[in-house]
Amino acid sequence: MIIFSGIQPTGRKHLGNHIGAILQYVEGQDRAEPSIYCIVDLHAITVEYEPSALRERVYDTAAILMAAGLDPERCILFRQGDVHEQTELCWLLTSVTAIGELNRMHQFRDKSVSQRQLVSSGLLLYPVLQAADVLAYRGNEVPVGEDQREHVELMRDIARRFNERFGETLVAPEHRIPTVGARVRDLQEPGRKMSTTGGSEQGTVYVLDEPDAIRKKFKRAVTDSGAEVLRGPDKAGITNMIDILAVVRGVAPEVVERDFEGKRYGDFKSAVGDELAAWLAPVRERYAELRGDEDALEDILEAGAEKARAIASVTVADVRAAMGVGPARRASLRPA
Ligand code: ATP
Ligand code: MG
Repeated sequence: MIIFSGIQPTGRKHLGNHIGAILQYVEGQDRAEPSIYCIVDLHAITVEYEPSALRERVYDTAAILMAAGLDPERCILFRQGDVHEQTELCWLLTSVTAIGELNRMHQFRDKSVSQRQLVSSGLLLYPVLQAADVLAYRGNEVPVGEDQREHVELMRDIARRFNERFGETLVAPEHRIPTVGARVRDLQEPGRKMSTTGGSEQGTVYVLDEPDAIRKKFKRAVTDSGAEVLRGPDKAGITNMIDILAVVRGVAPEVVERDFEGKRYGDFKSAVGDELAAWLAPVRERYAELRGDEDALEDILEAGAEKARAIASVTVADVRAAMGVGPARRASLRPA
């Protein structure tokens, strides 16, 4: 079983990333051989960004992932831009991807309206590169948050279509979306997901926030009309916080509801803020230690890229052969 997932480089990983994705990565290290995690610098350039900051943000993200529990001895951790095979595969896969499919993706629609200067074609092609990321490793399972469901569906379609057209070559992966915490909501605008690029500053809890800042954000979190600490379809704000506390405590959301029976919203919000701050504190402390040594981080990413390349180059050679790209493979070079 092979697990693959990618995450954007930013120093400001939020609670949605942590619960929806990173915790699953950590858990995947013991279930898959190999589990592969990629910091996607090439995806980050599809929206406005600062070139001089991109490399720094990759180091930030590598340190956050390791602080949360990724161990480069037990997984492959690397930077997307270091493995050229993925970009080549992206181009090859555009031949079996329809423009209409890309145009319909929610992420493209949401992010294209917020671009002031230019809606890049890269933003449209984003899911094809994402498909190439996973398919290059013949990944079986892709741990992601709910917002990425549609992109994983698309990569399955791309793999199937490729296999129908060119012969069985690629593996259609399954998504793995957590049952609780798949869509952590913005604390100020619970109608929206907590987001790196789209959310409100006060509604976004960062993994590296100081405990005081975390407590303050929860105290000010928007709740719903009503008074009981119970989940409900019309109670996005309180449901979100119940789910968050359930993840922190490692219990089912029903248990949290029971624990806060008869308690008021104010007491509940203080409890969530306190417990979450304590839960994230060790991650923030480990981050500070790891982030200081950029040479060590670069060594880890380089070693990861080498392992990744060894896998991706085999897939890309198969894809090229199936598509008739480049010279025919010579008999002497074929594996026995
Ligand atoms: P952006 O909003 O700019 O797309 P992002 O916050 O979604 O950024 P990504 O690097 O695109 O960050 O996502 C990394 C992982 O985190 C993905 O698997 C994504 O599904 C997951 N994720 C992102 N936001 C949430 C959220 N609010 N709740 C749960 N999972 C999330
Ligand atoms: Mg995203």
